[in-house]
Amino acid sequence: MLCHDEETAGVRFAVTDRHGGVSAGPYASLNLATHVGDDPAAVAENRDRLTAALGVPVAWMDQVHGVGVAVVDRSLDAPPRADVLVTRTRRLALGVLVADCTPVLTADPTAGVVGVAHAGRKGLALGVVPALLTAMAREGATELVARVGPSVCGRCYPVPAEMQEEVARAVPGAHSTASDGSPSLEIAAGVVDQLTAAGVAVEWLPECSVEEPTLFSYRRDGTVTGRYAGLVWLP
Ligand SMILES: [Zn+2]
Repeated sequence: MLCHDEETAGVRFAVTDRHGGVSAGPYASLNLATHVGDDPAAVAENRDRLTAALGVPVAWMDQVHGVGVAVVDRSLDAPPRADVLVTRTRRLALGVLVADCTPVLTADPTAGVVGVAHAGRKGLALGVVPALLTAMAREGATELVARVGPSVCGRCYPVPAEMQEEVARAVPGAHSTASDGSPSLEIAAGVVDQLTAAGVAVEWLPECSVEEPTLFSYRRDGTVTGRYAGLVWLP
């Protein structure tokens, strides 16, 4: 169920894999997303199993590849439309759903603030990482630790040259080269660069979702697939 589970300096970071759920077919088995065509009852059961495993409720967001911010204090049945989620509530996990996009998990355990961002190509170029940092500061965070979760790597994400140029103009660290030598992007590397430049103590969990069969991958699995989650909370 969890391919990463870490408690460090008063912060819990976790990443799910595709095992331990009840979904079938391309969603097998621990798909955590309601918006990808999976049986809603199966997703509800998967989310219940995750909550039981973590021991805390999870607040999700309705991700739209933007830079919108929502501050929450509980898990909501109708999650807010946002790509940045922040809370000051202890024992409430914040979740980011991805299948190749980059989950960004951060906390200031002293100030008691946690936040997450969903960073894909669009969000990264639009500034979802600065939006997360601004939202964290607004809630009182001053010293952040962060984990950048598994996502598609630069070898596996070739893009047209002009798309690479456009994103790299905004975030130079995302510039990469695919395994066949063509222009590519490494979104997670861009995120890590931005966090490091902002003074955040960041560690990158570098597994590639395309190459790692225990993770859902939109690119590898041909668009119909589940979502895994990056999670962070204050225990
Ligand atoms: Zn890869």
